[in-house]
Amino acid sequence: MTVNNAEQIKTRLMEIYKKMFEHFGPRGWWPGDTDFEICVGAILTQSVSWKNVMKAINSLKASGLLDVSRMYSCSNETLEKHIIPTMYYRMKAKKLKAFAGNIVEKYNGNLRQMLSRPLEELREELLSIYGIGPETADSIILYAAGKPVFVVDAYTRRIFSRLGIFREDVAYDEMQRYFMRHLPHDVQLFNEFHALIAGTGNKYCGNKKPKCSRCPVLQECGFTR
Ligand code: SF4
Repeated sequence: MTVNNAEQIKTRLMEIYKKMFEHFGPRGWWPGDTDFEICVGAILTQSVSWKNVMKAINSLKASGLLDVSRMYSCSNETLEKHIIPTMYYRMKAKKLKAFAGNIVEKYNGNLRQMLSRPLEELREELLSIYGIGPETADSIILYAAGKPVFVVDAYTRRIFSRLGIFREDVAYDEMQRYFMRHLPHDVQLFNEFHALIAGTGNKYCGNKKPKCSRCPVLQECGFTR
């Protein structure tokens, strides 16, 4: 089906959302007791499963390092030891230190103050910090700052290209603009939709052998026809 006007696109996106939501229910994202824990999780989850991220977060918590100032002042080697399960741990330790350093140096350690900046300014600032790319920045903005930005990822690209909505090589910004243009800018909707897409991708829409027969959006999907 060719969808060519804004209202039809919105209706189709909301239909996809509804089917995923009916299948999975609320996903309760992003897991984390504090804003800082959410930010740390968003940085550590790059290229690794959430299970491994949780191992690292629990280790940081147990040692008292899940704290802006303590993370900033501890040595890279100490930090590395706690985040080994997240792979690329040397690079990720540097990223965490850069993030914590930005909060200490510019906001006297007050993360909430940084997160309170207007959305565009916050996004620009996050993208200027070492190791923070668009997906990580947007996850922090949506899930820690509670501001309406649509997070997209590799699952979004795979599922929505199979649904016939994007090209397989669509760029991050183009995907994000599409959702932002056609959906109401509602934090709860964006929060849940991204989590549902991740759930669908993780459970059903695998790279090689998608489990289409149980997928909530099978009826919408051109990939299997
Ligand atoms: S029906 Fe299959 S290919 Fe389509 S989104 Fe679901 S799992 Fe992916």
